[in-house]
Amino acid sequence: MSAVKPVDTCVVGSGASGSVVAATLAAAGQSVVILESGRPTRPSHIPTIRDDWEQHLRDFFPPSNGADRVHYDADCDPRFRVSRFKGVGGSTMHYEGFYPRMHPGDLKRRSQLGMAADWPLDYDELAPYYDRVESRLGVSGALDNPFEPPRPPYPNPPIAMSCAVQRAKAGCDRLGLHAAHAPVAILSRADGARGPCNFCGGCWFGCMHGAISNAQQTYLADAASHGAELRIASSAVRILLARDGRRVTGVEYLDADGALHNQDARNVVLCGNAIETPRLLLMSTRHDHPDGLANSSGLVGRYFSAHVQAKVTAVFDDRVDGYKGPNINGQVQDFWDHDDARSFAGGYVIALRNAELGPYYLYRQRLARPTLFGAELLETLTDTFGHTANISAYGEHFATENDRVDLHPEIKDTLGLPVPRIRIRHGDNEAAMHEHMGGILTSIMEAAGGRQIRFESDRSILGTHLMGTCRMGTDPDQSVVDADGRTHDIGNLLIADGSLFPTSTPSNPTLTIQAMALRIAERLIARDRG
Ligand SMILES: Cc1cc2nc3c(=O)[nH]c(=O)nc-3n(C[C@H](O)[C@H](O)[C@H](O)COP(=O)(O)OP(=O)(O)OC[C@H]3O[C@@H](n4cnc5c(N)ncnc54)[C@H](O)[C@@H]3O)c2cc1C
Ligand code: SF4
Repeated sequence: MSAVKPVDTCVVGSGASGSVVAATLAAAGQSVVILESGRPTRPSHIPTIRDDWEQHLRDFFPPSNGADRVHYDADCDPRFRVSRFKGVGGSTMHYEGFYPRMHPGDLKRRSQLGMAADWPLDYDELAPYYDRVESRLGVSGALDNPFEPPRPPYPNPPIAMSCAVQRAKAGCDRLGLHAAHAPVAILSRADGARGPCNFCGGCWFGCMHGAISNAQQTYLADAASHGAELRIASSAVRILLARDGRRVTGVEYLDADGALHNQDARNVVLCGNAIETPRLLLMSTRHDHPDGLANSSGLVGRYFSAHVQAKVTAVFDDRVDGYKGPNINGQVQDFWDHDDARSFAGGYVIALRNAELGPYYLYRQRLARPTLFGAELLETLTDTFGHTANISAYGEHFATENDRVDLHPEIKDTLGLPVPRIRIRHGDNEAAMHEHMGGILTSIMEAAGGRQIRFESDRSILGTHLMGTCRMGTDPDQSVVDADGRTHDIGNLLIADGSLFPTSTPSNPTLTIQAMALRIAERLIARDRG
């Protein structure tokens, strides 16, 4: 094992949260190393630069060496499957960039409903961090959503609603729902070498115009410009503890050749996401920490949360070109805030989408059957491609202690490490919410004039928004970290990723993850100085 030059802070993970933490600490003059198990995305990895891009979607993903496996417990709901991106920039390299802020009540479910937990901070404390993250990412949006808390204008004007989104909006208008522009981390105006969105579509697989504000081209670029070192293909395998067991001294990691190194650091900030962060803590056992680090509460890995999801597709007689434009560029927040009159607790958001991709995707997803070929296939494709649109909803999951990530006792990955074992189930509240979503989405499509309306319910537990597992709180018996991201047990071991969410909140989490990461990094700097 080799020891590497010590630094002020070692950040594990270069995604949404890790990039913000590294950029903020490095700009304040700290020496920072980011350990990232994946590799960078190059323009040549973006499949949409090719004519036959639909055949090459898999090329976008970093090659898997089996070290990214998860195991689903026999008791895990089969409607849940993880989707994440393990490369430089983390899952922001594959995201849709829908960037709503939370509402004040989302953070206070225990006080409001007697359910779940309160966040240990208020909306007003988060708001200034929302402003700054939105500004750095150049979030585009409009002040046309009547449900959003008061806020300053968006840094960039809204991205115009596409044809498909305007069609869905017309359905919302007829029902009296308030369809508005979606706030998105996508440029509507050029920024240096990065171009504005040109509506080409396929944003999940990278943006050849640089319009999507992923971590690689925003905060990670800032971190590098302030001297932070990004060490790729470097997988953290254990957090190192001082002899007295009261502070951490660094991180042990494996490089691409399988060699083991120690990165010594004054502080360690975990940003590996809500599956890998608890996994690393649980792997870091020692005789005086037999249950892993920061786990005196026994809650590391518990309260794993994943949103309720519903999706409805429809076919329209005239063209709506649902494959053009950013994946999401309209939203409806009428059902966001909790309402006692509904049959479920919590709330959800509706996303108006352009996510139909190309004709091959349509064929594989919706049309493929053994008897469909020749003239009938051509006619079906002509009738549906460019005529299909979809809308979806994401909503709150009230996780229980039994929703969890732990280590599989036997199965190991290719690095010889225990694979994360996942168990998540949605309960009656989530089922009632899902049914409500299906009814509303279906009525929107009917009011918009769609036919062949289909409510897809096979993936009703969303695998892309991963939260909980190291939840934040004031009580060390009921939470893993405090409001500054510091683990209750070990003051110089911090967590800044989606794992610290005490509740899932109703909507897409990444703006909140980054706002929290910025706050955590600045509180760490203040403490270090003070
Ligand atoms: C298809 C898709 C669409 C999405 N769309 C949206 C959206 O529209 N809006 C929204 O708000 N959110 C969206 N998300 C979710 C969003 O991407 C995540 O919420 C966010 O990236 C999570 O941030 P994070 O910092 O917790 O983890 P990540 O961004 O996933 O970063 C974790 C990083 O840590 C690295 N890592 C993990 N373990 C180790 C280790 N042991 N050693 C070294 N490195 C390690 C990983 O390789 C990864 O790069 C989407 C996600 C997906 C997959
Ligand atoms: S639609 Fe816009 S954000 Fe999406 S890939 Fe094209 S230019 Fe980029």
